[in-house]
Amino acid sequence: MNLLGRILFKEIVLPGIIIYSDRCYKFAHQFLTPNKKMKRNITLLTIMAMMMGGFAYSQTGRTCGTMEVYHEMMKDPEFAKNIQLINEQAAQYADENANHKEAGATITIPVVVHVVYANNAQNISTTQIQAQINQLNADFSATNTDISTVPSVFQSVIANTNIQFCLAVRDPNGNSTDGIIRKQTTVSSFSLSNAVKYDAQGGSNAWPRDSYLNLWVCNLGSNLLGYAQFPGGTAATDGVVIHYKSVGSIAQPYPGFSPYNLGRTGSHEIGHWLGLYHIWGDASCGNDQVNDTPTAEAPHYGCGTLIHPLHVNMCGAGTSPNGEMFMNYMDYSDDACLKMFTQGQATRMNSILNNARSPLKLSNGCTPLGIANAFDAESAGITFHPNPSQGLVFMNIPENMTGIVKVNVMTSTGSVILTRQVNTRESLKAEFNLSDYANGLYLFDIVFEDRHYSKRISIER
Ligand SMILES: [Zn+2]
Repeated sequence: MNLLGRILFKEIVLPGIIIYSDRCYKFAHQFLTPNKKMKRNITLLTIMAMMMGGFAYSQTGRTCGTMEVYHEMMKDPEFAKNIQLINEQAAQYADENANHKEAGATITIPVVVHVVYANNAQNISTTQIQAQINQLNADFSATNTDISTVPSVFQSVIANTNIQFCLAVRDPNGNSTDGIIRKQTTVSSFSLSNAVKYDAQGGSNAWPRDSYLNLWVCNLGSNLLGYAQFPGGTAATDGVVIHYKSVGSIAQPYPGFSPYNLGRTGSHEIGHWLGLYHIWGDASCGNDQVNDTPTAEAPHYGCGTLIHPLHVNMCGAGTSPNGEMFMNYMDYSDDACLKMFTQGQATRMNSILNNARSPLKLSNGCTPLGIANAFDAESAGITFHPNPSQGLVFMNIPENMTGIVKVNVMTSTGSVILTRQVNTRESLKAEFNLSDYANGLYLFDIVFEDRHYSKRISIER
């Protein structure tokens, strides 16, 4: 922001309007820099009127508090060091995994939704929550129903991120759960203070972040739609917070909260949680650490007025020859205009899941409880080799173990893909062929008459 803009902006804000400065700076910035003032054709007077009248979502555009939280956390040298490491790892991962492979292993992240409510309306239905999970799974696999409307010049960089989500079916104690915690509160609205993440402050304590994505749903104040904590921060506050009215999907929007009711706030904030920056790099023509997103001068707002190609080479010759990517989940466009992650963004998120957030890959939060009482196969002497395997897996059960009934092989989300009936009088060596199945973690459930044993096998090619 130029000096004039900053001074004017402070004068506008100081009279007591409670607004988060980071977003507001960006908001003012897009109108107050000289080159934008004419181009966007909105007068300072209009902005002042909107600010004085208080923000309504539809007037001002998307409001995400992530970067304000991020900048506050960056004052902690430990977090700053973690972010530096994450960026170095992501760059290295991108070098080693040039062109994110769509055929790679899918990682399914168990989600625990904390519904923190002060009234019945805020206590949103399980159906609404499932709709949000469905939208996340569509958006992160590029199977969203509006994907075909991405401009043709950007179609080649659309990514199936190979990241999926399930509502947790096991809690941290190994008990059955529907993945939803409902907690009544006397707090009428929450802020970026993270109170929603603590029982003692009227919120709900986080589940272990090594096994779950914590998704808090509550009434957020100050017109915030949501905020996320980047990887590398403290465990107690790790996760994503979204406004209860933003929870939904294209098929099941939250009633009356257009244009932010299609579930895209969730996709945007989880993008941050997996290390993505805003598409404009949170600066004028900033760097979002991803190579295949065109440089963007500033966030985009709205939807109907966003016509491709928009803002061609705003940041200089060759910076966005096909226009800026306002349909990317990490922009500020309305839900109906957010439709894609790029291959580069998918690579960065997968880097996070293979580094800072790698313990999530071993979580059994998505594994159904039918095998809750399973014992560790390896420590009982049941061996598997090789692990990881390219497809063929050999199992060996010691001769002194009797009473085996069958072996089930399951995906990480609990679908049984193979079942082998076993006659205990036969050889206890068995071979399983997973050559036709995708890379990823598979669970071998060895069923005896009175107990189960289990073992995770990784298929990698
Ligand atoms: Zn954001």
